[in-house]
Amino acid sequence: MSHNDRMIICGGGPVGMVAALSLVQQGIPVTVLESFETPPQDPRAATIHPSTLEMLHKLKLAEGIIKRGLKAPAFQFRDRTTQEIIAVFDMKHIADETDFPFAVQYEQWKLTRDAIVAVKEYDIADIRLGSAVTAFSQDYDGVTVVYEDPAGEMHKVEGRYLLACDGGRSTIRIGLGVFMSGFTWEERFLVLTSKHDFAASDGYLNRNYVMDPTEWMAVFKVPGDDDQGIWRTLFPTEGHEKDEDLLSDEGVTQRIRGARSDMDHNDVLHRNLYTVNQRVADRFRVERIFLAGDAAHLNNPLGGLGLNTGIHDCMNITKKIGDVWFGRAEEDVFERYHRQRHQLATEFLQSVTIENKKRIEEKDPEVIKQNQQQLRENAEDPAKAKTWLMRSSLLDSVRKEETIE
Ligand SMILES: Cc1cc2nc3c(=O)[nH]c(=O)nc-3n(C[C@H](O)[C@H](O)[C@H](O)COP(=O)(O)OP(=O)(O)OC[C@H]3O[C@@H](n4cnc5c(N)ncnc54)[C@H](O)[C@@H]3O)c2cc1C
Repeated sequence: MSHNDRMIICGGGPVGMVAALSLVQQGIPVTVLESFETPPQDPRAATIHPSTLEMLHKLKLAEGIIKRGLKAPAFQFRDRTTQEIIAVFDMKHIADETDFPFAVQYEQWKLTRDAIVAVKEYDIADIRLGSAVTAFSQDYDGVTVVYEDPAGEMHKVEGRYLLACDGGRSTIRIGLGVFMSGFTWEERFLVLTSKHDFAASDGYLNRNYVMDPTEWMAVFKVPGDDDQGIWRTLFPTEGHEKDEDLLSDEGVTQRIRGARSDMDHNDVLHRNLYTVNQRVADRFRVERIFLAGDAAHLNNPLGGLGLNTGIHDCMNITKKIGDVWFGRAEEDVFERYHRQRHQLATEFLQSVTIENKKRIEEKDPEVIKQNQQQLRENAEDPAKAKTWLMRSSLLDSVRKEETIE
């Protein structure tokens, strides 16, 4: 096979593996280079929105996810002090817009695992786990990528294009010198996972946002390793708090007691701390190299949009790669990928996630009152609820994408 008969993907996380599946299903040979030998099971993305389910359905991945995941047909906003349920957004209001009027709670490592299994069905797929990309170059007709195997041996692989799905610290983006415009929040987010059943004890749904001026929370149920259900609680931290204090038994007890006063660190299965960025790469395409997922944009996790938009990126670029590969389009269509996905990441993804964070942490009592009133009105009026849900489920964003030339 000549060197330009193959796509190379750097990073076999959820976005890279879904991209690989989309390419092999079109008949395009793919090599995926992934530094981990087994995907990490850290508690990151868990909410798959209707727009993404539509895309995963086309790849024949959605049915398994719906079967094994937890359906979330509604989500809740609460006030932490009063425990009052402020608003419940019911996705039935978008049932006339999508075949999937619900989100599904399904851990991202399971999505990655499912995609790997599906990709391996194709003999044009070549997945190389334990392969860390260290260098790359491109010329007029192809790309060359160098990687290190677990034994420390260096290898070289050539392809026609390179898709960088190598996450927030993307080796490819940094190597290209592409800047990530935006900022990093001073506080980090702490995720505590427990088996405590927040639905039975407090009437939580599978997705909940708890507003509070000093310490808000997000509460989510995910299937867990044994599919019996575990609960993730997400808290903000203060910029000055040290990692060792936040992750200590005392620190964990103090936070989890904010969720329920009868819990302590013994109830917590996992504790994870995340840096939170709001950044978008200045370029999503540099000639034969494309950035997708966290390699291209980072945002706070409120609203569960990072992975979903990453999958939207990869579905967009893999369709265009297919069009060019099989002679249905010229390479200038790749500039449209940059224009579409960069604009949506800048205008939509950043504003929605920043809005979500500001709303949940608002400190001014008057603004809190207005926000809560607005949430109630939006949830109760079917037309307003539909507008809200079209935006939060990313269906609007996908439709807008088609209009960007
Ligand atoms: C607490 C939290 C909750 C979140 N919740 C949600 C949610 O509910 N919904 C949502 O949509 N998003 C959510 N997100 C965001 C989501 O986790 C990310 O957007 C998602 O992981 C992006 O996927 P990715 O494949 O682009 O990058 P990653 O998941 O980071 O994968 C990148 C892959 O590239 C590999 N890699 C890196 N460098 C190299 C190299 N040099 N060579 C080879 N391989 C390499 C890595 O090993 C990794 O496997 C959340 C994030 C956090 C922190």
